[in-house]
Amino acid sequence: MQSAAIIVAAGRGTRAGGGIPKQYRTVAGKSVLARAVSTFAAHPRIGQIVVVHHPDDSELLSDCLGAFDNRLTAVEGGDTRDASVLAGLAAVEGAETVLIHDGARPLVSAALIDRVLDALAEHRGAAPALPVTDALWRGREGRVIAPHPREGLYRAQTPQGFHLDAIRSAHAIHGVGALDDVEVALAHGLDVAIVEGEEDNIKITHPRDFERAARILQEREGMDIRTGNGFDVHAFEAGEAVVLCGVEIPHTQALKGHSDADVGMHALTDAIYGALALGDIGQHFPPSDPQWKGAPSDIFLKHAMEQARERGFTVSHADVTLICERPKIGPHTQAMREALAAIMGVAPERISVKATTSEKLGFTGREEGIAALATATLVKA
Ligand code: MG
Repeated sequence: MQSAAIIVAAGRGTRAGGGIPKQYRTVAGKSVLARAVSTFAAHPRIGQIVVVHHPDDSELLSDCLGAFDNRLTAVEGGDTRDASVLAGLAAVEGAETVLIHDGARPLVSAALIDRVLDALAEHRGAAPALPVTDALWRGREGRVIAPHPREGLYRAQTPQGFHLDAIRSAHAIHGVGALDDVEVALAHGLDVAIVEGEEDNIKITHPRDFERAARILQEREGMDIRTGNGFDVHAFEAGEAVVLCGVEIPHTQALKGHSDADVGMHALTDAIYGALALGDIGQHFPPSDPQWKGAPSDIFLKHAMEQARERGFTVSHADVTLICERPKIGPHTQAMREALAAIMGVAPERISVKATTSEKLGFTGREEGIAALATATLVKA
């Protein structure tokens, strides 16, 4: 029979900074909570997943877990951790065992879940822990009072697993204030086996823990480097200036388009969407929508950059080529690089803008319009 998992995520998590509870902040483009939930959701021995959240976080929760399947049950937590676990236990259906996991531990592994479940065949409780290896002291007011023996001491982790009926009864009669569910289980006579924990199964507590989690993920998942390309054309119409890569250049004609017709910025925006496999500019900003009429194209580029950042990517390099006979581009390329870099929030050294003519051949050669192509390289940080 499959086990249930309760992910406790009702805390406020303010020590980690960031303005929202830590479990909803992202590590490498995915929220802490979504990472924890997805490992359980992908595990073949887990049937139901109950996420216990704070009543104020319903919106954050649906943003973060919107794509998960119907094995997921969301319940509101209580004022204390114990009350939240009780609410979670009440929502479990049709399972003999349950794993209770801290929503602030995003790097739990499938192997660790297996070790806990395996131990539940022999014991009514099982939980991962690591032996303490540092020397321990007792201290007061900044001074060491005495060394403290570390033999037999462990650092506790989650998920902590139990036979459902046993932990339900234990929680139902236990008062508030337990640090974890093993404490509740022991108080009510359950035997709890220790299984080997994992150093990477960290609990996000302080701001620097986000960086540590990102480094662990990068090692685990390898580097994600992507290249996208973009191409765009705009025709000339009557006018006195063109806008190219964010720079207005006086000219004998203007470029025709729904927005400001910045052909170079459009090609670059499409290159970034391309690297993210997120379609193209027309899908995000339909030309049929009047609100984009005459719009400055930095709206599009900023949107593409936001999509990249949300997914944990930075733009490591971009290269734009403008194809036209006139106006002369060369004198403006430095200003264009700086304009694009400022919009994208990257260093100008990472942005290239260059130009070529088409030797008077084709529509660009006949000066009917300007074409642009762009390549962008994105790296998951
Ligand atoms: Mg365009």
